[in-house]
Amino acid sequence: VQLKRENLNDLIRKIMPLIEADASVTGKMITTHLTPIEPIEMDSKQITQLILNFVRNALEATGESGWIQLKTYMQDDRAVLVIEDNGPGIATDVVEQIWKPFYTTKENGSGLGLAICFSIANKHGASIDLSTGKEGTAFYVRFRTN
Ligand code: ADP
Ligand code: MG
Repeated sequence: VQLKRENLNDLIRKIMPLIEADASVTGKMITTHLTPIEPIEMDSKQITQLILNFVRNALEATGESGWIQLKTYMQDDRAVLVIEDNGPGIATDVVEQIWKPFYTTKENGSGLGLAICFSIANKHGASIDLSTGKEGTAFYVRFRTN
C-alpha cells in the first residue's frame, strides 16, 4: 500500500466519470452527497477499487428504477463513506457469506469483489458495516482521520 494523506471527496469527484460510465450503460441514477470531511491516509488506487466494487454490486443488484448514492460525512473522528442502493437487499443467510472469497449468488460472479473490499478496508484500518432490508442496502466504510 502507498499511503498518502488525501481527501476522499476529491478522489470521489475525480473518479465520478468512471462510476458514471459504469452506470450510464444501465440507465441508472448515481447521485453523490459529499460533505466536508477530514483527509485520511489512503492508497487512492485501492480506494478507487473499493468504491468501484461496491458500486458495481449496487448496479448489479438494482432493477430498472434503480438508484445508487455515494455519501460522505464525519462521524466523531471518522470519515464515513456510504454506498447505498435501492435494490432488493441481502438475505440474512447470504449476509453471513458475502465477505468470503469466491462466494457469489450470481451466475457469472467471481465472488471476489467484497473480499477485496474487506482486505482494502483492513489495510487502511477502516471498518465496514452494512444495513440491508427490503428497501435496499447500504455499506458504511469508516476511516480513521488521525
Ligand atoms: P460478485 O459480485 O462477483 O457476486 P461480490 O464479492 O462482489 O461478488 O459480492 C458477493 C455477493 O454479495 C453477491 O453475489 C451478492 O449476492 C451480494 N451483494 C453484494 N452487494 C450487494 C448489494 N448491493 N445488493 C444485494 N446483494 C449484494
Ligand atoms: Mg461484485
